[in-house]
Amino acid sequence: MNLEDQIFKPTSFAGHLVPGIWRYMLPQEIFDFEAPAERRATCMDCPNIQSEQYRPDYRCCTYHPAVPNYALGFALETTTGKNSVQALINNGYSLPEGSLHTPQEWVDYLADNKYEKFGKSEKVLCHLLDKKTGFCTIYAFRNSVCSTFFCENDHGKRGESFWSQTQELVSQVEAALGQWSLEQVGFSVANYMDTLNELSKDLTKLPGTKGGWSAASRKALFGKYYGRETELYRSCAQAIYDHKEDLWDIANSQTIHEASQFELNQLKFVPKEFDSEIDASDFSDGDTIEPKDLWKKLKKTHKKLWQEPEQKLVLNKKVQISKNEKDDQESKHNKGRPYILEFLTKKNGDTYEWRHFLTKKEYQLLSEFKKPRKISTKLNKRHRSKQIAEPNKRIIEWFGKKVLVKDKK
Ligand code: SF4
Ligand code: SF4
Repeated sequence: MNLEDQIFKPTSFAGHLVPGIWRYMLPQEIFDFEAPAERRATCMDCPNIQSEQYRPDYRCCTYHPAVPNYALGFALETTTGKNSVQALINNGYSLPEGSLHTPQEWVDYLADNKYEKFGKSEKVLCHLLDKKTGFCTIYAFRNSVCSTFFCENDHGKRGESFWSQTQELVSQVEAALGQWSLEQVGFSVANYMDTLNELSKDLTKLPGTKGGWSAASRKALFGKYYGRETELYRSCAQAIYDHKEDLWDIANSQTIHEASQFELNQLKFVPKEFDSEIDASDFSDGDTIEPKDLWKKLKKTHKKLWQEPEQKLVLNKKVQISKNEKDDQESKHNKGRPYILEFLTKKNGDTYEWRHFLTKKEYQLLSEFKKPRKISTKLNKRHRSKQIAEPNKRIIEWFGKKVLVKDKK
């Protein structure tokens, strides 16, 4: 493999860096999309460290991502990824499909969510983050969840739905390519799923002494590749690399196998108190949706994303804007933003659901809506000259976030 190939370099998806393989495994049209800028997810200066007391080292990397086998294979070719992927394998955190949490690790994650420890976890920490630098060691190959997660969506529910559908599409393509690449190297995915189902009859035996999958379970699941895991991942990466121009078609023609008994037993393994934290969409109902159908759905969602409301818009009564008095940690950190927008839990209330710090120019633009008004070319022009990039789009985002609402009069 040529390390200078584009598949090894992150690529830009509407201003966001995503793995280079995206340019091969997804329809080209996706790169014409205008995705939300997600200005609040400033990962290199994570706001949640101040506002939510997230760990400064891990921030939102307090979960165990399922990274596909071929992606681990690509990472093994790189200086930053080689050691972390090797450690992942040595500690038993990966299976033939790629990295995968054990049922116990999943319960720990649900417990964190229940007790609001996401971002603050002591137990659930991604094995692929470099603790010294806080950087992702497989950044150019990270999975669908890591590539599309933004802790805050500038565009509110519409933006959230755009990213979750992008994630769903990419995740389905990743699963298909992971299984296809295993079959290319002569590894039976159907037998692997049967073994996983069989092993799940006693989930307590699956974790090993170091916390990952036990040696016995990995021996059964990897078969002849047990002890040769890096060889398996590299071969999967090579198969993907050799067929990079056909990945979208491959993903759409691949039958995705599932270990449904394992999934069911894993669900039963969750203590009742954490049931409320289970996301039903993480589990298949037996019907696999083809990537091309997910793509159709995503295109429709994207089309609606920037639709201008025809009615006049006005500031929501639950919005309160005040001066930034720099009287707490977060306000001090945002000292360059002189105004605070608070989205109150109820009209005229004294607690807020969330708050944003506004620049003077954002404040001026938002203040236009103290009285009901329509989005117009004139308004756009006036504020663009004040160096706000695409004011109308900013207004549509505020509308999506319910900062602006349709005028009822
Ligand atoms: S996405 Fe994660 S790292 Fe980035 S700003 Fe949000 S919490 Fe911080
Ligand atoms: S793979 Fe990288 S981005 Fe994803 S959780 Fe781990 S360290 Fe964070």
